[in-house]
Amino acid sequence: MTANLLDFDLEGLAAFCEQLGEKRFRAVQLFRWIHQRGASDFTRMTDLARSLRDKLPAVCTITDLPVLSRQDSADGTIKWLFDVGGGNAVETVFIPEEDRGTLCISSQAGCAVGCRFCSTGHQGFSRNLTTGEILAQLWHAEFFLRKHLKRDERVITNVVMMGMGEPLQNYNALVPALRTMLDDHGYGLSRRRVTVSTSGVVPMIDRLAQDCPVALAVSLHAPNDALRDDLVPLNRKYPIAELLDACLRYLPAAPRDFITFEYCMLDGVNDQPEHAQELLALIRHHGARGVPCKINLIPFNPFPDSGLVCSPRAAVLRFGQILNEGGVVTTVRKTRGDDIDAACGQLAGDVLDRTNAAQRLAQRRQTTERPIRFVHKERQA
Ligand code: SAH
Ligand code: SF4
Repeated sequence: MTANLLDFDLEGLAAFCEQLGEKRFRAVQLFRWIHQRGASDFTRMTDLARSLRDKLPAVCTITDLPVLSRQDSADGTIKWLFDVGGGNAVETVFIPEEDRGTLCISSQAGCAVGCRFCSTGHQGFSRNLTTGEILAQLWHAEFFLRKHLKRDERVITNVVMMGMGEPLQNYNALVPALRTMLDDHGYGLSRRRVTVSTSGVVPMIDRLAQDCPVALAVSLHAPNDALRDDLVPLNRKYPIAELLDACLRYLPAAPRDFITFEYCMLDGVNDQPEHAQELLALIRHHGARGVPCKINLIPFNPFPDSGLVCSPRAAVLRFGQILNEGGVVTTVRKTRGDDIDAACGQLAGDVLDRTNAAQRLAQRRQTTERPIRFVHKERQA
């Protein structure tokens, strides 16, 4: 069987090259051709020894994911639907902003966590993506964008693991993908520009701190266990106090001195002023000195059969105001890519059910972070 070189971080590629009787510096050369120049054709890699170039095609490939569709928004947001086989598809979203370009990447086809407010969770779990499939989303998007925008330099400056799936339930494939994003011979992204978002897989938060500490976003969504048990079923296994302890343990290794908490605003469910007060108390009083954090309020993107409704704008603002006045920097995500129905964190992808998926997508909104207007200047992120 031939290997897909997108499955390897630099260490993995070096081991692969060693098996072929090649020195490590050959792996560095190959890695740079792939991830810095977007090459998939070995004959183009002119600085590799001829003998190596000749033997590579028999033992390996650089295999992209097939694109089922690409949609371009008027605001520059681009969404890809990639075929991952077996009737499954995953989505990847590029969100350009003035000072950065963020790619939102999927880690699984479906998700086993089953959060009540998440369309991916409602689909159930199909399978883990491989490292190659996670990295192919970045590889494809980066080199498509360079060509599309006629740019020689890097276009994607930030990666968020906020597409379909729970990244920390696909840990073994995730870590080599993250390492390739960070590697100076790969994408060279700084740790603070790569974010793993998790629903709270406590033991894996600890392992990430050891293996590859990047920025951490934790999907909290509720200020107490009773409510969180209902919204994020994984809470029954890892309740809030254990999750916050894991956040505190993560911080010394983290590239930033705070954790981002995501909080999806659900009308009448978790969006009342009492919830904001309870959240504030939780964050301030956990551990000896509270949990250093920022909060990102995500207006709920509705989908059929969720039985949930997005909080009114006024409720979102009031909630944010209570948190800000309590000294916790809070932002609200702004809608992006409306016209292409892109969405971050609750994406569809069932190829066999694409008509329905299109309908579901039509109800979703791509979002990106923006400080709320009323936030006092000195408190803004
Ligand atoms: N599984 C990981 C990462 C993917 S979800 C996690 O849960 O963190 C990325 C973000 O999108 C999470 O904060 C998630 O709670 C949020 N999200 C999921 N469904 C949503 C919806 N319908 N509306 C708004 N945000 C949603
Ligand atoms: Fe999975 Fe995240 Fe969706 Fe929950 S919110 S079901 S963890 S993808």
